[in-house]
Amino acid sequence: ISDEKRELKDLIEALEVDLIHLQFTDITGITKNVSIMAHQIDKALDGGITFDGSSIDGFVRVEESDMYLMPDIATFTVFPWTSSPREARLICDVYKMDGTPFEGCPRYILKKALKDSEGMGYTMNVGPECEFFLFHTDEFGNPSLEVHDQASYFDLAPMDMGGNARNDISMTLKSMGFKIETSHHEVATGQHEIDFEYADALKTADNIMTFKMVVRIIAQRHGLHATFMAKPLVGISGSGMHLNISLSGENGENVFYDPEDAIELSDKAYAFLGGLLEHARSFTALTNPTVNSYKRLIPGYEAPILVAWSLSNRSPLIRVPAGRGKSTRLELRSPDPSANPYLALAATLKAGLDGIKKNKRPPEPISSNLYHITDEDIETLGMERLPSTLCEAVEAFSLSPLMKEAIGKHAYKRFKEAAMYEWNEYSKYVSKWELDRYLRKF
Ligand code: GLN
Ligand code: MG
Ligand code: MG
Ligand code: MG
Repeated sequence: ISDEKRELKDLIEALEVDLIHLQFTDITGITKNVSIMAHQIDKALDGGITFDGSSIDGFVRVEESDMYLMPDIATFTVFPWTSSPREARLICDVYKMDGTPFEGCPRYILKKALKDSEGMGYTMNVGPECEFFLFHTDEFGNPSLEVHDQASYFDLAPMDMGGNARNDISMTLKSMGFKIETSHHEVATGQHEIDFEYADALKTADNIMTFKMVVRIIAQRHGLHATFMAKPLVGISGSGMHLNISLSGENGENVFYDPEDAIELSDKAYAFLGGLLEHARSFTALTNPTVNSYKRLIPGYEAPILVAWSLSNRSPLIRVPAGRGKSTRLELRSPDPSANPYLALAATLKAGLDGIKKNKRPPEPISSNLYHITDEDIETLGMERLPSTLCEAVEAFSLSPLMKEAIGKHAYKRFKEAAMYEWNEYSKYVSKWELDRYLRKF
């Protein structure tokens, strides 16, 4: 038994953990969970916890369905809101019975993309900004669309349920090892953001999954429903998940920083930016995977609609925030928090690295507000638009050899099928908007 395993077992004993949740993520970004009693930890660490892969979204067919979980010891975390039973979790990788990693496991897909960047001498660092809404629940605990406040950006309303819940969430995350940087009320009523420290891409993807779980659980304990859907309410801001991306080199230096350049960006930063722009339309299905995601990507709400970049304006796809030196980074503004973070990070990393491989130069930055730009200007500037529906996004995704390479044949096929199924279901539905608009008119 290795030192790592010994330490984990000591910890489980010292903290009097009763139950351990073994967690992994399906292709749609949903956490799956099987719980074991603490004394079964040896079995779990030996890969003895098997499950039926055919029942997991986007995994395998019934004929090849047995799989097992391999816990990643470094992800062990106790749930601080539990006491009796005391609960903890381990994030797992999915393996096939022949002992090889399952190629459709999102966490494995991201690990593979990271190997690629390591081969080039880079570590990809990501700092996410997850936004979400808090809604009241009704007497049965079902979510309503009623928000708890009338506050807006950076407001400090009289301490209401939302503020209390947000503080409770931050403190809980802190006790689970998150370094919370800032938390604030967002632009829309009932909308919040909590930012935690950047880390390498794998840790960040794990953190995003943990973050979403904790936000929902703690909100529930305050009688609120937290949602990470992209655009829950018509006419006010949706929720984004900006990704602040940088690469560090072998000595930990920030590869994107070059004090000699006019705006202190390195050639690698420009090339990575060029890659993100080139593949933006293709990775959008992964960063914005729901029908609803595209109702956020419209003019007027600080969400991007055009494939362009700027230094300060918040309407284009990529912004270069002011920080330089160690904090030099690119802020990718299209992703929303309904994305599967493993797949979204694998895809964006591959896009950027492709830019570096091809030594791309991005077009000039734009400085105007793109929400007011005319179609004519878009054409003369040769700008692309982000996909405006899930269907259009899946089309662009399907045509991209890079995306196929980024997430592998298996997930590529399954993701496409799942997204098109979603789109077709949606297309069949007759909405209230249509009835309001057409029932009397025609
Ligand atoms: N909510 C905005 C979005 O949809 C972002 C607002 C902000 O963080 N400035 O991306
Ligand atoms: Mg922010
Ligand atoms: Mg924000
Ligand atoms: Mg931001």
